[in-house]
Amino acid sequence: MTPLKRLILDLIHQGGPVSVARYMELALAHPDHGYYITRDPLGRAGDFTTAPEISQVFGELIGLWCAQVWMDAGAPSRVLLAEAGPGRGTLLADILRACRAVPGFGQAIELQLVETSPVLRLVQEQKLLSLGARAQWHLSLDTLPTDAPLLLVANEFLDALPIRQFECRSNRWHERQVGTDGASLVFGLAPDPEPSLMRSAPDGSILEIAPVALEAVRAIARRIVDQGGAALLVDYGHAEPGFGDTLQAMREHAFADVLDAPGEADLTAHVDFAAMAAAARAAGAKVHGPLTQGDLLERLGIGIRAARLAVAAPERASDIRSGCSRLTEMTPTGMGQLFKAIAITRPDAPSPPGFAG
Ligand code: SAH
Repeated sequence: MTPLKRLILDLIHQGGPVSVARYMELALAHPDHGYYITRDPLGRAGDFTTAPEISQVFGELIGLWCAQVWMDAGAPSRVLLAEAGPGRGTLLADILRACRAVPGFGQAIELQLVETSPVLRLVQEQKLLSLGARAQWHLSLDTLPTDAPLLLVANEFLDALPIRQFECRSNRWHERQVGTDGASLVFGLAPDPEPSLMRSAPDGSILEIAPVALEAVRAIARRIVDQGGAALLVDYGHAEPGFGDTLQAMREHAFADVLDAPGEADLTAHVDFAAMAAAARAAGAKVHGPLTQGDLLERLGIGIRAARLAVAAPERASDIRSGCSRLTEMTPTGMGQLFKAIAITRPDAPSPPGFAG
């Protein structure tokens, strides 16, 4: 049994079942045993692989996206380039490399990283040091500076934030909880229904609400409205609202049981892009998309970029092509279709690259 499982069992024995959101928070962010606190989970030796770890082209195209947004805003002399949940810093490194070709942009950028994992922060520090780049780190979006336009990117950040789940019984919604049958963790339902949820649905339907991700998107949108700039949020999820249990655990690149080994497996949930877009709009911002990742990358010129790279580095040509195909694969479980992107701007700003029309 993992130390965190022991601890969660004790908590439940003392105080009763905990919500799925609380369970997810403990599993991912417990100060001693949380999954993201104790390890670098990315890459082949870890539990999952993300787009920037698959191909440098992903970050390069996002870098050029940032540079174009900066130019469209009149090339301000200072701009905050922020990333939420920067992982190994790979996306940021690829962004910075692509942006070297854009006169003035490198000098204008002030790097801001929002990261809660001490282990990943170290990896990011090393990566940026090797590039000669300086950055400020933040534990939350709240402390980002407010005195310059903000370009914020986040890939697979929202999916790691705790969700609440509710199950429908006779048109009343009961919060899903994690309790125990003695030795192991089991799912259950809160006895009292949640009074604020009124939608009718077949018995057994699961409704997911992501309060932490929604608040993050609201905070980002408010800043874009106040400071100017744009945000690009990429994640796996769905464009239309719907019902269903999307909470999943990943360990060593395979699906695992959500309750089996808290602290040792990644826990994520599909992002409800309709809800995220509504939250940003409610904060006064304009939302562009959602687009599928495949469509966005095609519109940003992934084909041309990959072909150019393959010519420049023929020995890596087949890796470059297979990486880009993986990012744009348009099957229901392929990254091109499963992943979506939205952009957030001020209401009067031009459409960011890839999102026009
Ligand atoms: N964007 C990276 C990593 C994605 S993994 C990539 O695409 O490769 C999720 C990232 O979000 C990790 O860096 C993790 O430590 C970070 N993270 C998780 N919860 C967070 C929180 N509440 N605040 C800030 N960062 C968080």
